[in-house]
Amino acid sequence: MLGGARIITIANQKGGVGKTTTAINLATALAAIGERVLIIDLDPQGNASTGLGIDRKDRDLSSYDVLVGNVSVVEAAMKTAVPQLSVVASTMDLLGVEMEIAGAPDRALRLRKALHGPKSISGDYSYVLIDCPPSLNLLTVNAMAAADSVLVPLQCEFFALEGLSQLLETISEVQASINPDLEIQGIVLTMYDGRNNLANQVVEDVRLHMGEKVYQTVIPRNVRVSEAPSYGKPAILYDLKCSGSQAYLQLASEVIRRERQLRAA
Ligand code: ADP
Ligand code: MG
Repeated sequence: MLGGARIITIANQKGGVGKTTTAINLATALAAIGERVLIIDLDPQGNASTGLGIDRKDRDLSSYDVLVGNVSVVEAAMKTAVPQLSVVASTMDLLGVEMEIAGAPDRALRLRKALHGPKSISGDYSYVLIDCPPSLNLLTVNAMAAADSVLVPLQCEFFALEGLSQLLETISEVQASINPDLEIQGIVLTMYDGRNNLANQVVEDVRLHMGEKVYQTVIPRNVRVSEAPSYGKPAILYDLKCSGSQAYLQLASEVIRRERQLRAA
């Protein structure tokens, strides 16, 4: 915990499981219910930045600059169309950052230092969500090192649990080395299609294996959710009433509830 901010890393080394969609819409939902939220886009593809309507030409300061130490998080944060939601955008420069900082002893701690250091975000935000690339690389490790917890989106498909053990292994390594307080915030099932029997089987399976860590809220597959980014808007702004937006609002209240339980424990 940092000046009241809860820092949640959204990670899964598989691509296309709903990390970015969850980052954008959970952040928007949290902002809508009164939280002050920052998204840090750590994926060189920059889908979270684009999905929040940040034009590539406007990304003068980005998460790259934060990691190499040019600027503070607060300086790099840009306002979005969502009140109370800011973003530290990403650019393709991030592709090279791993090489650039590989030799630095604090290479895994760059984001942690930026968030907790002298020019920290203290008091500016109540939630920080970090959107990770589809890899367990140095960027993801930086995100885990900086966070209070990890939120894992799993797509409701046959291989949902495949790769999860590797992800949990990485979390354990980060706990053992640089961030002993890192928790597993929860697992959120995404792109659920109730007409598909297999999807129901997957939900049951994941609940059986991961128990209470799995959120009650399941995010449905919803075409409005997939359309929204092309308008540079979170689904919640694009179509508040659609099933996907409603599910993300529900997820936000579950996250807050779980948060209070974790803090009270
Ligand atoms: P990741 O960040 O893990 O790579 P994304 O969030 O970018 O995954 O999602 C992958 C693709 O699936 C995107 O095209 C996105 O629009 C789509 N998608 C994500 N969640 C949903 C959903 N609930 N319903 C429909 N499409 C979705
Ligand atoms: Mg993504």
